[in-house]
Amino acid sequence: MTNYNGPLALIGDTPIVELTHLDTGPCRLFAKLESQNPGGSIKDRIAVSMIDAAEKSGALKPGGRIVEATAGNTGLALALVATLRGYTLTLVIPDKMSREKIAHVRALGAEVILTRSDVPKGHPEYYQDLAQRIAKETGAFFVDQFNNPNNPAAHERSTGPEIYKQLDGKVDAIVAGVGSGGTITGISRYFARVSPATDIVLADPKGSILAEYIKSGDVGEAGSWLVEGIGEDFVPPVSDLSRVTHAYTITDGESFAAARELLLKEGILAGSSSGTLLAAALRYCREQTEPKRVVTLICDSGNKYLSKMYDDRWLTDQGLLERPRFGDLRDLIA
Ligand code: PMP
Repeated sequence: MTNYNGPLALIGDTPIVELTHLDTGPCRLFAKLESQNPGGSIKDRIAVSMIDAAEKSGALKPGGRIVEATAGNTGLALALVATLRGYTLTLVIPDKMSREKIAHVRALGAEVILTRSDVPKGHPEYYQDLAQRIAKETGAFFVDQFNNPNNPAAHERSTGPEIYKQLDGKVDAIVAGVGSGGTITGISRYFARVSPATDIVLADPKGSILAEYIKSGDVGEAGSWLVEGIGEDFVPPVSDLSRVTHAYTITDGESFAAARELLLKEGILAGSSSGTLLAAALRYCREQTEPKRVVTLICDSGNKYLSKMYDDRWLTDQGLLERPRFGDLRDLIA
């Protein structure tokens, strides 16, 4: 396939592969490889959707400035769109974020403003509040993925229909996590129309409040977790979780083990949130008594996590691996 329209035209239409080497009980499990988007994650879809809408509404003028608060995949995706379309991008990033992530968005031309990680929502230096203030003061377009309806709309328009079409409309369950909630909201809205019986399964890291919120309606106290990109200490305003039928709480250890098993058994190098989704998908599959067709997402690639969850020493340091696999040799090869 030759594409003459540049990298942004390659966003979406990601492949789905069946996972055939894992214990899926009576079910068939399929993985949609969002890691194959040109920016490397599922967030490419929403970056284009939110920027397209801002161009259309006039909120973003040619050559204008875009501001967002993130060092994650949304930042990378926005940096890609900004550089290709001639915008200036300012990313406000909490100072705990990894140097690799900051270097990556800088290399893509983004201007980075580091801010404190140790202040709560409402504090003037909290990264979201600071981004909003900068946008206001400079007249820039504040993307605000947590409140922007063009985030879930991208998934309602593209991710959902692609899954439905690729599996010939035969989808019994879809597994997703919630960062902003855009993915699960958009996909569940689309499936409510075309296949309302499809289960919508939330995969939530232990420490996040969302799985408990789905089950009881209560927003409890949040803990901490190591998986990146999903799990929240609040319910994101743009999310609509009303169609979620199942919710699983997954520990960091289970997420990382699932991601590593995925690489060893299926040859797919996935990020940590994809491990959480896979662990939840496997639990859902093994609980079924009838054969079902289940879809999970590979939200981003694992190459960003090689020195984290794919590294035995890092896992050992986190208390997630008892004994380093290479014994004393690890000190020699360090
Ligand atoms: N996985 C990864 C790696 C992510 O970066 C994100 C977005 N933060 C998600 C999953 C969750 O997507 P959403 O924001 O649509 O809920």
